[in-house]
Amino acid sequence: MPTLPVTLPRQLPLAQESQVLVVGGGPGGIGAAVAAARQGADVLLVEHYGFLGGMASAGEVNPFMPNNLKGKPLDAGIYTEWRDRMATYGGTDGGDTFDPNCARLAAEDLCLEAGVRLLYHHRAVHVERTGRRIDAVVLHSKSGLYLAKAANYIDSTGDGDLAALAGCTFEFGGASGHCQPMTLCFKLKLDPQDVPAEQRDDPHRALRQIMPQIQELWKQAQADGRVECPRENVLLFRGVDRGVVHFNTTRVIHRNATQGAELSDAEIQARRQLRQIFALLKSAVPLFAHASIYSIAPQIGVRESRRILGRNYVTAADYEAGRTFPDAVARVTYPIDIHNPDGTGTVLKHLPPGRWYEIPFGCLLPREVDNLAVGSRCISVDHAVHSSVRVMPPVCSLGQAAGTAAAMATAAKIDVSQVDGLALRQNLIAQGRNLVDDAVPAAPSTEPLRTPRNKTTSLSA
Ligand SMILES: Cc1cc2nc3c(=O)[nH]c(=O)nc-3n(C[C@H](O)[C@H](O)[C@H](O)COP(=O)(O)OP(=O)(O)OC[C@H]3O[C@@H](n4cnc5c(N)ncnc54)[C@H](O)[C@@H]3O)c2cc1C
Repeated sequence: MPTLPVTLPRQLPLAQESQVLVVGGGPGGIGAAVAAARQGADVLLVEHYGFLGGMASAGEVNPFMPNNLKGKPLDAGIYTEWRDRMATYGGTDGGDTFDPNCARLAAEDLCLEAGVRLLYHHRAVHVERTGRRIDAVVLHSKSGLYLAKAANYIDSTGDGDLAALAGCTFEFGGASGHCQPMTLCFKLKLDPQDVPAEQRDDPHRALRQIMPQIQELWKQAQADGRVECPRENVLLFRGVDRGVVHFNTTRVIHRNATQGAELSDAEIQARRQLRQIFALLKSAVPLFAHASIYSIAPQIGVRESRRILGRNYVTAADYEAGRTFPDAVARVTYPIDIHNPDGTGTVLKHLPPGRWYEIPFGCLLPREVDNLAVGSRCISVDHAVHSSVRVMPPVCSLGQAAGTAAAMATAAKIDVSQVDGLALRQNLIAQGRNLVDDAVPAAPSTEPLRTPRNKTTSLSA
């Protein structure tokens, strides 16, 4: 690529100082900022958008995927508080389905009540580092460039922007070198006149009955080119409002979400697929004949990008073995859930009932920088484990762990990487996190990874 000389400022104003600087306000950043502030740290949370929630709001992903053990959430803590606060705005169905606007409100409530200072419409664009420590982060906003400084930093950007800007090493993608596909989520609203009278109290009953025909139509439309989406089926969920149908169906492959122009192109491709899906359903499915567009996510959803290499690294073999760690900061039962990076198919691989695997503290600690923790989906795990740990409830718990560790470090005047993982685990247990030491050794699964092509599933994110 050709280059041109530019004149950028050599000195920037130091406009923000805090003890803990969290970059990114998605599920991980919310967990991190609230936890750190509740532990007594002065916390600044910097977010690119003008609201919190990350993929839960900007990506309109839905519902919260279950990370449960014996029917109980493993992520009791800031995640369940966030979900329960949404309910006070009428923003859930009483379960895991939620409204993205209420997700914004509830997240902001938790942050403000904990004393987190929020800085919206700011993006981290550069990191100043000396040796193994970050000195400051350059932020960009409408007012230009300036510096923010802290004792400890948390990367909750999803993409690992902060760690990458700090020069940390990372992995990217699966065997083919590509990451999981991106998906633009959208919702349609059914018109009651299209719903049989006896099913108007719950139009999703009518929808469930015709799903086999919709999947058949989908295959035909792919074959004759009416839809360009390579996804194996139509993946949909209910919305909070009656008659609202949430689509997790568009699929854009081979675009790198950390490359600006590719991300832009992915948005255009995804909206082309959205138009095709809307037209197909309206023209060929009577239940959708008068359906309207209810919402389109502000941005395409990014499932996977960088995975920042840390001091521990959890692999598919650890998942299979249900491996546990003394310094565990999260427990996960959600399956390996890989949307094919190269086209059609989804790999779903469940642990046996009652089993889980764990993420140790070291997966949150980048190898090269001492005063930085990752509280986000982009932790140090392989492609398969990432597909499991990436769903919102465990990501919120990873953030809670990173934030707690950063506050402990700040109080002790040490770097976050020096925090004792066993003490961190005890602190998280004291906060109500389900990490008590009653681990049943998990039996290794013998079932190989499989790709159930064309299989309809309601448990895939
Ligand atoms: C299409 C799709 C469907 C999914 N479905 C589900 C589902 O049904 N259930 C479920 O539980 N999970 C689902 N997931 C997974 C889940 O939504 C994400 O893995 C999770 O939100 C990751 O949380 P995070 O906080 O790490 O990152 P994000 O949610 O991506 O949040 C990152 C935040 O950081 C901000 N940011 C990024 N870079 C910068 C920067 N440089 N400076 C400042 N701010 C920055 C962003 O604006 C964003 O707000 C889905 C994901 C996708 C993409």
